[in-house]
Amino acid sequence: APVILSSDIHGIDPALISRNAVRVTDTLQQAGYRAFIVGGAVRDLLLGIAPKDFDVATDATPEEVQRLFRRARLIGRRFQIVHVQFGQEIIEVSTFRALMDAPKEAPKEAPPAAAAPARRLRRDELDRRTHAVDASGRVLRDNVWGEQHEDATRRDFTINAMYYDPATQTVLDYHNGMADMRARVLRMIGDPVTRYREDPVRMLRVVRFAAKLGFEIDDATRDPIQPLADLIHNVPAARLFDEMLKLLLSGHALACLKQLRKQGLHHGLLPLLDVVLEQPHGESFITLALNSTDARVRAGKPVSPGFLFATLLWHDVQQRAQQFEANGEYPVPALHHAMDDVLDMQTEKLAIHKRFSADMREIWGLQARLEKRSGRTPLKLIEHQRFRAGYDFLLLRCESGELDPAIGAWWGAFIEGSPGEREELLSQGG
Ligand code: ATP
Ligand code: MG
Repeated sequence: APVILSSDIHGIDPALISRNAVRVTDTLQQAGYRAFIVGGAVRDLLLGIAPKDFDVATDATPEEVQRLFRRARLIGRRFQIVHVQFGQEIIEVSTFRALMDAPKEAPKEAPPAAAAPARRLRRDELDRRTHAVDASGRVLRDNVWGEQHEDATRRDFTINAMYYDPATQTVLDYHNGMADMRARVLRMIGDPVTRYREDPVRMLRVVRFAAKLGFEIDDATRDPIQPLADLIHNVPAARLFDEMLKLLLSGHALACLKQLRKQGLHHGLLPLLDVVLEQPHGESFITLALNSTDARVRAGKPVSPGFLFATLLWHDVQQRAQQFEANGEYPVPALHHAMDDVLDMQTEKLAIHKRFSADMREIWGLQARLEKRSGRTPLKLIEHQRFRAGYDFLLLRCESGELDPAIGAWWGAFIEGSPGEREELLSQGG
């Protein structure tokens, strides 16, 4: 049974809660279902942080949820949920899940004799249809509905497994999450090795939360990571990419990457990560880029993933371009050849989305043209759709010492300049 915490103990400020999330729990409860705000939102609320999105957990099935809301969509196959939309905001509603290793034989607390066969049959049947695991133990599908305590137990960390009921303003805590919250500890629910095998992405999640929240990772949760690190390669590239993106846009990217390296998780995520993190500390290009990204995220400013990945892979592109040039290619084709190679490798490993890789190409491609400033091209370049990103990228290169700062300054003056001043700068040339 969960520990029930009242508001004088948990201290959650109702003003930080999305009205739409409350609308969802109210509607479900009025229809006779159980419904709670759950997971990361409760964790953030307990820390006094306004959650960026809200998840709701309920005992209603996805179809039942869908029937209660006007704008509700069934999403996902591996993990079926319902998206309830209110204007810009989407509330994710998931049905309580049963445990993976749900007993196939009679459960310990035997249900009433008459009910037992029917229930067992139903679960076995469901298991075959909606529960799938691969050879390494990774869960492929997980759509068996269960009890709330099971739903709590199959979540990842104790601090992510608390349920908040806006109606009564109480928190249900199944795994001592509140104590770990106070001790600032990340602790896996259940046996960490099994839980990482079920879903290796949890290794990335623990690293991200540790860096983002400034929490310690409990020994038993941390120790298996290094030995199991290779399991990351079994994760589909698209999912890995989503997780890396969350990590890089967490506002604590630099801290996350250092943690990843410490846990031996960087291999095969971004080939450059090794190089990046072994560079002597200080003003390396990537450190600068990550710091500026972290600052933007923390200030609530938008960040372009294409720009970020372009910075992370820039040295790789340059190195390859140099090799092609050494083999007799001209600079421009060498650069394009290098971009193709780097992006091919990254799409395979990391599934960098097409729209991001297109941005990356443009940012990289702009660099040589921005450096040259020849003839009247600057007037054209400044109208280029990705000019701003290309220019910001150029500034980072200047700042890191890779490029003469005078070039960045020239462009700064050109951007600010009146038509007359621009003509003057053009005549000075590049
Ligand atoms: P944030 O949204 O800040 O990144 P979060 O904890 O809300 O953090 P989500 O990915 O939104 O992360 O997941 C919501 C909740 O679902 C988690 O808090 C956790 O309870 C559960 N969860 C998510 N991913 C996993 C996973 N891989 N294994 C087990 N439980 C998970
Ligand atoms: Mg979340």
